[in-house]
Amino acid sequence: MVPAQTPRLPRHLQARLEAGLRQRGQGYRTRFAPSPTGPLHRGNLRTALVSWLEARLRGGEWLLRIDDLDGPRNRPGAEASILHDLRWLGLDWDGPPLRQSDHRGLYASLLSALRRAGWLYPCRCSRRLLADVSAPHGALAVYPGFCRERPPRWGPEAGRLPSWRLRLGEGVIRWRERCGSTGCQDGPSTVGDVALRRADGLVAYHLATAVDELLMGISDVVRGDDLWSSTGAQVAVMAALGAPPPSYAHVPLWRDAQGERLSKRHGAEGLAGLRDRGEDAAGVIGLLAASLGMVPAGSRLSAGELLADLSSQGLDRWLQQERRIREKA
Ligand code: GLU
Repeated sequence: MVPAQTPRLPRHLQARLEAGLRQRGQGYRTRFAPSPTGPLHRGNLRTALVSWLEARLRGGEWLLRIDDLDGPRNRPGAEASILHDLRWLGLDWDGPPLRQSDHRGLYASLLSALRRAGWLYPCRCSRRLLADVSAPHGALAVYPGFCRERPPRWGPEAGRLPSWRLRLGEGVIRWRERCGSTGCQDGPSTVGDVALRRADGLVAYHLATAVDELLMGISDVVRGDDLWSSTGAQVAVMAALGAPPPSYAHVPLWRDAQGERLSKRHGAEGLAGLRDRGEDAAGVIGLLAASLGMVPAGSRLSAGELLADLSSQGLDRWLQQERRIREKA
């Protein structure tokens, strides 16, 4: 097997990646990246608030990206309600929101370049096959590499196209982590050869996310802790493209009284419910900030007032404290 090379990208794409990396070096830039699969719930809003505070405290930029590639899961009106809710809370973003669906051509060019450079291989394993060999419940966390050494045939077979998997190297993948568990994952045993293009032709989340962090010039990703385990794969994609990763802060998820994380799927309450109960924006910011121990319960204040009360060190201290609490747990 010929080792994978740094891909040769079309000139305009290479220039955009380089511009993103330069921009990253020029100051703090983060993003909030909701999927338009439903209204934001309290947990999503709390993560949005933390990343907005970070950006504003550091005099940086807070960008908004709509992760709308998974067409069947998108809900009509969800994007509009997300934008409305963020505005209503006073979380203002910089520049126009970016939609991943506008980057489809870009992702396709990058995938072709990675494929030509030997980073990808076609995989014919169905979800059902992977579920069958896994023990004892559900799909395997790490792809076992069945198709890795097979001759690379990219065309349809039995009417189905293959998925395209990243050929991950040996070793530990590392990143700078400011809040969640230490930023390292063993590649082969915990990340594996992730699919970057699905058999149905959809661009996979890891590819789109990794590419956009680079193109948007993101210096710091601040997002929910549920995505910590996705980071190794995204850092590996960036490495294949020859780019270093940004810094990450994976902030704790809001859990209900039973310790379960809130989720859109399970109907966690969004702003509409809170508004129906008579909460205004000051009440909701107070609720979100109090759940983080930033203000006493029952506080009412605007996002701008909360910002004025915190110092950048304050938020860093809070992120570190969260990390220590979780390391002890
Ligand atoms: N779009 C993803 C979500 O809503 C988040 C992606 C990210 O922050 O990396 O769960």
